[in-house]
Amino acid sequence: MLVRPSKIVCVGRNFREHAKELGNDVPAEPLLFLKPPSAIVRDGDPIVLPAQSVRVEFEGEIGVVIGSRLSHAGPTAALAAIGAVIAANDVTARDLQKKDSQWTRAKGFDSFCPLGEPGGNPAVGLEGLTVVTRVNGVERQRATAREMVFGIPDLLSYISRVMTLEPNDVVLTGTPAGVGTILDGDEVEVEIVGYSRVRNPVRNRPA
Ligand code: MG
Repeated sequence: MLVRPSKIVCVGRNFREHAKELGNDVPAEPLLFLKPPSAIVRDGDPIVLPAQSVRVEFEGEIGVVIGSRLSHAGPTAALAAIGAVIAANDVTARDLQKKDSQWTRAKGFDSFCPLGEPGGNPAVGLEGLTVVTRVNGVERQRATAREMVFGIPDLLSYISRVMTLEPNDVVLTGTPAGVGTILDGDEVEVEIVGYSRVRNPVRNRPA
């Protein structure tokens, strides 16, 4: 099933060790930004490195697909509105992110949002979800949702008080420590263990 969200809402700096590795503190409230739906690619599609950046990085994340409309909801209602979890890669042009005060360009290039197949609703409880990122088969990131600064129901509740979340909208819940550069010829895989996986080759934009 192809998820076609009206928007992709993302959360920055939601893992303490990741915030630290980029020299940032964790925010007092969730830090939100958007990726455009035009950034979505699927399993097997290439991540295309844009000419404007010399430092593109992977960010493996637990994605949540909204199952029912959510507006001004508390955490319990937010939890009940989750349709599925989905493996996601919040691909980022780190040099442009540092240069721009808004992250639209750094996060918004075509192919900068690989999404896997939606993996159903986790019976183990959201806190037990594990996200793993591998580059060329080598593990680079591993964390559970329990390590998040703001848990998933709280994030969805917080977002729903800003903008209505529609069915099929996707929320990216933040990346753990271990982010790094990807280059032409690499292959990057994000897995939510037992639920969803997305694997993409990395290519330079043809001249
Ligand atoms: Mg991210």
